[in-house]
Amino acid sequence: MAVTTEKYEVVIGLEIHTQLLTKTKAFSTDLASYGSMPNTNISVVNLGHPGTLPRHNKEAVNMALKVGLACGCDTTNYCLYARKNYFYADLPKGYQITQDKTPLCTNGSIRIQTEDGNVKDILLTRIHLEEDSGKSIHDLDMYHSLIDYNRAGTTLIEIVTEPVIKTGEEAGLFVSEVRKLVRYLDVCDGNMEEGSLRCDANISVMLKGSDTFGTKVEVKNMNSISNVRKAIEYETARQIKIIEAGEEVVQETRSFDAVNGETFSMRVKEVATDYRYFPEPDLPPLVVDEAWIDSIRASMPKLPEELYQEFTTTFGLSDYDARVITENKEVAAYYEDILRHTNNYKAAANYLMGAVKGYLNKNAIELSDFALKPLQIAEIIRLVDDGVISNAVGEQTLFPALVENPDKSAKQLAEELNVIQNSDDDFILDLVAQALEAYPEKVEEYKQGKKGLLGLFMGEVMKRSGGKADPKLATQKLREALGD
Ligand code: ADP
Ligand code: MG
Repeated sequence: MAVTTEKYEVVIGLEIHTQLLTKTKAFSTDLASYGSMPNTNISVVNLGHPGTLPRHNKEAVNMALKVGLACGCDTTNYCLYARKNYFYADLPKGYQITQDKTPLCTNGSIRIQTEDGNVKDILLTRIHLEEDSGKSIHDLDMYHSLIDYNRAGTTLIEIVTEPVIKTGEEAGLFVSEVRKLVRYLDVCDGNMEEGSLRCDANISVMLKGSDTFGTKVEVKNMNSISNVRKAIEYETARQIKIIEAGEEVVQETRSFDAVNGETFSMRVKEVATDYRYFPEPDLPPLVVDEAWIDSIRASMPKLPEELYQEFTTTFGLSDYDARVITENKEVAAYYEDILRHTNNYKAAANYLMGAVKGYLNKNAIELSDFALKPLQIAEIIRLVDDGVISNAVGEQTLFPALVENPDKSAKQLAEELNVIQNSDDDFILDLVAQALEAYPEKVEEYKQGKKGLLGLFMGEVMKRSGGKADPKLATQKLREALGD
């Protein structure tokens, strides 16, 4: 779509619903497992039968607090839940229990880093706890909509940002940071395709330099990070086109159609009063005291940003290496485990990002299914560092062989494969003599000053040794034999 974007400024605020991995639902003891047979994890509480009562789920609050603390949020010590009323077939109670005036966490931020290295802290408005609705299924039966209530009542947190995001790229980076964070904290699987992490984008445009925001449109149903970017880019262009045509943007909720890359209108946006929020009378206030916060703080794992700092300073990794390794919690933990057995930080990073990653990609498996233990990678590195095998043999011969024989030690396998470098003086001297004998004229030229020929002799020594001569020793012996 050709539009003039230079005149305009884009304003974006995101609302991210994250399904927490609590064992039971947010306000009942129903199981919250994903993938069960439809309508099996339900009970009278979540079906809203009269006389049933919700109750607090401590695990849900713990998980929400972890996310809040990781984002540097303020926590609210006295939370009243609210009812958000609306009618929909997948909402059996006719209302959703949520937090309205007293969200569990407020303020805080999440840091993103753009491709060109710029860092920006995206400010959060709030993180609140609520329950999810059931799921309507419209594409399984030609004549009916089907409803699965398993999801009804499962725990969500909603992370709401301030309207400070400027581009689709920033929005995509933000979602990917949120996903990384909740995975590190083990509170959500972060799977956007399955809907455990859902992003709604509020988008408006205004003339550059204006201090009044334009009318916002909320876009839903973007089930991947690249769709978040695409939807925002499409929607921005659509709104600019409307304004350029002298018309007005309508405040509404739109859905993203990934096939056509377009957004389309779902409904004209409800306003808060439509939901008739009022305090949930069936739940006592949630009281979160300092001791509770302290216990959560004490249980926090290391976060990606912290690991990044450690990897770049203590271990001297490059920005790129540190980013790649901390992208995934398992990879970072594996890296730290290799370092329990070697101090060669750089070699460990190289193995992980090179040989190991290559193997995982080629075989389409996860690190958790990888046969080699971090210790074994460290053993290969040690053999190279000690001059027992060459670097090339380590990566190209020993590593793949060890993956096939993970029960053997690296040393044992190197011996069996006959790739141990030979540092025996007589063995090397013999090879040096053979190599020089093969090129009598070149030896003369070398002696007259053509020192570059050393490479030729070295090549000959290595060839005759079957790659097993210790290169350092061979160089030294060659030089001596040539009278240097
Ligand atoms: P609503 O009452 O419609 O839910 P909120 O004020 O709660 O709206 O904001 C919801 C989200 O929309 C937040 O992420 C906020 O930052 C964002 N937002 C608010 N106003 C705008 C705007 N004019 N343009 C873009 N995003 C906005
Ligand atoms: Mg709102």
